[in-house]
Amino acid sequence: MKRDRVIVVDWSSSSIPKRGKDSIWLGIADHSGVTAENIPTRQQAAARLSELIRAALAASERVLVGVDFALGYPAGFAHALTGQAPESEPEDPFAVWNWLAQRITDTDTNQHNLRNVAAEANALFPGDGPFWGNGAAADMPGLPRTRPDLPDGLHPARQTDALATGAGARPKSVWQLAGAGAVGAQTLVGLPVLHRLRQELATDLAVWPFQPADAPVVLAEVYPSMLSAEVKAYVAANPGVVVDDAQVRLLAQALFGLAVNDALTPLFDAADFRAEGQILGAGHQTALRRALPATQDPPRLRDDCFAMPQGVDWVPVDTALSTLRAALHPVTGSQLLPTAQAAGRILSQDCIAQRANPPRPNSAVDGFGFAHAATGTGPQRLPLVDARAAAGQPYDQPVPFGQAIRILTGAILPQGVDTVVLEEDTANDGAAVVFDGPVKPGANTRKAGEDVDAGATALPAGHRLRAPDLALLSALGIAEVPVNRPLRVGVVSTGDEIIASPDQPALPHQIWDANRPMLLSLAETWGYVPVDLGHVQDDADQIAQRLDDGAARADVILTSGGASAGDEDHVSALLRTRGTLSNWRIALKPGRPLALAMWQGAPVFGLPGNPVAALVCTLIFARPALSLMAGAGWQAPQGFWVPAAFAKRKKPGRQEYLRARLTSDGTAEVFQSEGSGRISGLSWADGLVELPDTALDVQPGTMVRYLPYASFGLV
Ligand code: AMP
Ligand code: MG
Repeated sequence: MKRDRVIVVDWSSSSIPKRGKDSIWLGIADHSGVTAENIPTRQQAAARLSELIRAALAASERVLVGVDFALGYPAGFAHALTGQAPESEPEDPFAVWNWLAQRITDTDTNQHNLRNVAAEANALFPGDGPFWGNGAAADMPGLPRTRPDLPDGLHPARQTDALATGAGARPKSVWQLAGAGAVGAQTLVGLPVLHRLRQELATDLAVWPFQPADAPVVLAEVYPSMLSAEVKAYVAANPGVVVDDAQVRLLAQALFGLAVNDALTPLFDAADFRAEGQILGAGHQTALRRALPATQDPPRLRDDCFAMPQGVDWVPVDTALSTLRAALHPVTGSQLLPTAQAAGRILSQDCIAQRANPPRPNSAVDGFGFAHAATGTGPQRLPLVDARAAAGQPYDQPVPFGQAIRILTGAILPQGVDTVVLEEDTANDGAAVVFDGPVKPGANTRKAGEDVDAGATALPAGHRLRAPDLALLSALGIAEVPVNRPLRVGVVSTGDEIIASPDQPALPHQIWDANRPMLLSLAETWGYVPVDLGHVQDDADQIAQRLDDGAARADVILTSGGASAGDEDHVSALLRTRGTLSNWRIALKPGRPLALAMWQGAPVFGLPGNPVAALVCTLIFARPALSLMAGAGWQAPQGFWVPAAFAKRKKPGRQEYLRARLTSDGTAEVFQSEGSGRISGLSWADGLVELPDTALDVQPGTMVRYLPYASFGLV
């Protein structure tokens, strides 16, 4: 049972659009880690689910989708509801899905008629039930508020419910539509959505346990409370995180953990194909728990972390940087990854060599090996043993003192050999090898552990793994590495004049969004998960909604546009009134205003809209900050001093960054215009020249600090 991605859905029967606790959450786990999305309406959630699945199918991925409501009802219900003759065939769970899909209405603002439909179902049964419970103020004829006696033959629970316990919790009866933990209402508004998903995906989808779990997309019922102890611990460690968020993350992570280790199959083994359905993982709680990674995300940043001391007006760049550095801490937890898949990831713990490299003394060259003590100065003649030692083909006999053995590069030194003479320095007649002494003791050999000792720290926590590191880790027998979950960087553009993409037409007063593709690409280049939050108009509510979305889907949000303090600066206005804004007036050109704020636990970098300023602010401020939050520590760019190829008179007060590149004779030339609207200069340049905030009269030949794009990880 191979799965590339696990999506766990925490459903909701809310009758209004809702976020946060008791609303809809998706937990998505795959090789890049786990993310959670909070979605306010069922229609949007259905669309998102279908979008995720279609993207996965397009990439030939196999997906497991778990939903936290019942896929089937206790035995007997399907027959009675849909009018199938009880004796005829096995009950068809999909007939119930279809029955509900025909009757349930559910608007784009979550207005549903589930109570009417429950009453309609009740009318098909003698007595008051089976459905009961009404959380609404208005009475619903045919739907009792308290538990009625069940019609003859209908059970209160399914067999699977008894198995699906977790820290004392056990699924409630599917008949119960209201009250804490009741799953009945969610089931009624959930099954119609799944019915349509089935129609959309046809044979790409298998619904387990009604169908064998062998389609590209497998849908199953889950019960996140099975991990309630772990969820509790997670919430305690992450103040502000709602339970639903923790539940979908942890369950998706646990199921994906099993998938990665090829350990999912047993969960599907005891499939019971009756229409009651089955909770995936019931009876396998321990396996699920074990599949969870050791550590969860550390606490989020404090809401006041960006506060600038009172009375501060203009902040020099260096002060801003050190204040920012002090405000932040790593925000992503750790997971284990196979070493071969860990390139680009950041180690969350030191990596310890499992054995020495090399593990045993071996030969560094092709030649002849012998005991040094048996040789001296002048011509040496050593009889050859009739054997050979090669890499992967060790010679396991002792080589007698005074004799030599043919030995090849990488071969373990046989017993009795401590020195090797290079083949090119010898002659041999097949019976003996001849060379000139003296030879240095231990010549042409590698000592055990001369590269890395067993138990030594091979790479430290915080190190970002590059291709050569995978070589080292593999050489040391490190099969799995603890790495930080990749930082998710949300990017949103604001502005009434902005058109989201150049594939759409723009009127003369409109401009295409230049910042978002740039920032998303930077995030990806830096090894983070780019989260495209799209473009929004200059409208407080729209921006707020998008930030909500961003806080649910990303660890940090980059906005561009509207960050100043003017009439049209909607981002900073919103962050000031509804978030915790700290407007940093940084003595920087280009750039100046950087709006830093916390929004629902996520730090927001409000970048200027101007692409030149947006890039400079991102490289100078966001890059080291993201690196710190991702667990790789603060990153300062490496600059070097070169003679200027330009002249410029500069006033004191602001630190300046000029678009620059190196000439063939190693001087720095700058772009012809400092105009901050000149986007072409960003592409013309290969780096930035940094001028200090003092007054300066730069002449050709004056030494200036050059920061290549590459030193910002910009490739
Ligand atoms: P603002 O920071 O919103 O005052 O914008 C400053 C300048 O940058 C204005 O000329 C905007 O039209 C422009 N601008 C804002 N956002 C973008 C964007 N995403 N792409 C290109 N230009 C932008
Ligand atoms: Mg604007």
